[in-house]
Formats: sequence, structure tokens, C-alpha cells
Amino acid sequence: MPDTPPRGLLIKLLASGVCHSDQPLLDVENRPKFNEKYILGHEGCGEIIRIGSRVKDVRFKVGDRIALLAVPGCGLDNCSECSRDLPQLCADGVHHGIGQDGFYAQYVAVDIRAAILLPSGIPSGVVAVATDAVTTAYHGITRRAEEDWVSNALQIVRVIGARVIVSDLRQEKLDSALEIGVPATDIVPVGKSVQDFIEGSGLQGNIDTVLEFVGEHQTFQDALQIVRPGGKILCIGTLDRINELGRKMGIRKRLSIIFTYGGQYQDIVEVLDLIAKKIILPQVEMGRLQDFPEVLRDLRAGKIKDRVALVFDTEA
Ligand SMILES: [Zn+2]
Ligand SMILES: [Zn+2]
Repeated sequence: MPDTPPRGLLIKLLASGVCHSDQPLLDVENRPKFNEKYILGHEGCGEIIRIGSRVKDVRFKVGDRIALLAVPGCGLDNCSECSRDLPQLCADGVHHGIGQDGFYAQYVAVDIRAAILLPSGIPSGVVAVATDAVTTAYHGITRRAEEDWVSNALQIVRVIGARVIVSDLRQEKLDSALEIGVPATDIVPVGKSVQDFIEGSGLQGNIDTVLEFVGEHQTFQDALQIVRPGGKILCIGTLDRINELGRKMGIRKRLSIIFTYGGQYQDIVEVLDLIAKKIILPQVEMGRLQDFPEVLRDLRAGKIKDRVALVFDTEA
């Protein structure tokens, strides 16, 4: 059990979400500030066991359930990232589960800036997944694509009432889109080229923004082709490390290509509020912490429909 930090909390983990980026994290060799050995897991929900002696925020009480922000930044006024409201880019603050001890553990010590109080009624597994899977999409769409409007991303988009064309390789993802109200005519059938679909439905020139959650060569090329002149591509997925960009086409179409990374405290607060109001309903399966290697394998093999949150055997 770690010590309780004076300006932080000792947390007993209740659930930890498994992320696609856990595998690349296992594969990386030496990144600066990475410990040689550390505990993975960057999506967490836990219970406060102890409160540090110098914590002044009286809202936090022993026994409260909280969401955990994996990368809260250092929070210092003289930090070039934190002072510009970009704590997720701060190199100095702790990175739970990303080179430093994270949430696939029984206990974790966190800074008070990593702790977010919960609205009532959200299961721990959903909270865990909300902190990254939902929040990354939310941050990208609301803060980076900066649309007046706001799987998870799709629900966020639907909240704001935008028309959305959906494409995925897996039929079950498209079925979910249908379930949350996307008309069948706005769903690209599995196996059909996105570019052909857009052309065939007379939508060429009408796609304002492409939310590119995949990041493969093909999906990025599709995005470049289908986005309207003056439109935006929001880059969220990273499956291929390098994507090719036709510079001339980018200039001729006057495209905005925007990258996004992670989310922040306020994003998690807003996401949890949308979940509590049942406006966003993240789908989460529960698993056991000791099954992590298997869950990660299934995730890589595309065998997991949504997200999995892990709990200790004693909690399951
Ligand atoms: Zn992640
Ligand atoms: Zn900082």
C-alpha cells in the first residue's frame, strides 16, 4: 500500500478500464520519464481510504467514490503547459499507468488534482471508462473541433443534433449506431467504400467535419477525400504511426487538420454529468484484473465490442 501523499489521497481501486493504448505502452522501450517497471492502467474509479494532511478541499471525504484523472499535470503557475490549460501535455506531472504506477492495482496514491467527485448512480466500471474512452472523444469534439454541436463519440454528436454518417468495419458497431437513432441510410454498409458511399448519396461537398477515430492509411485518405472544402478533420486514432497527406490537396481544399490528445478535469466532470443524466450511455463489460492479458489479446483481435473494466477478484 503506497503512502498517503500530503496533498493527495490514498485510493482503493474499484474498477480500471482496459485501453487500446495499453499494448503500445507494453511495447515501448525507453521513453523519457518512464520507470523501468510500473503498473499499467490509466482509467480508474476508486474509493478514498485516506486524505493527505495538507488537503484543504473539504468536499472529499473518506469512503467517497471518485473518478481518477491519469494525467493531471503539475499544476504549477510557471509550467508552460499547465498555465495554458494543457495539463495533459505537462511532462512533469504524474502519468498514472503511462510510465508510472497506474490503476491495475489494489491501491494508488494520487494528487488531489487527479480526483473528481461523482454524481450518484454511475457504476464504477462506467466511471473508469468515462475518464479516457469517453473523455478523449468529448475533449476532441467539443474543445478541438470546436463545433457548436457536441459508440461514445456518436452519442456526443447526437446530443447536439448534428447529422452524422457512420462508418465502421464491424457490423455490431453499426447496429449500435442504429440503436441510438442514426438512420439506416446514414450508415455506410460494411465492405462499402466510404468515398463511394458519400458520392452515391449525393453528400459530396456536404461533410463539414470528419471525426477520424482510426488513423489508418485508408481511413485518413477517405477523410481527406470526403471532407468538404474549408472543412475539418479531427485526428483521434493512431493505428498507423504515419499518415500521408497530399499537401496540394490540403491547400486547395483549405483544410483544417486538428489533432487531439486525452482530456482534462473539466471534460470528465461534464462527461460524468451527461452519463448521470443518461444522455451518454457507455457500454462496459466487467472482467477480473487477473484476466488482463486475455482481455488485452481479445481487444487487439477485435473480439471485444465496447470496453472492459477490470476489478479485483474480491470485488467481482
Ligand atoms: Zn487510453
Ligand atoms: Zn505542468
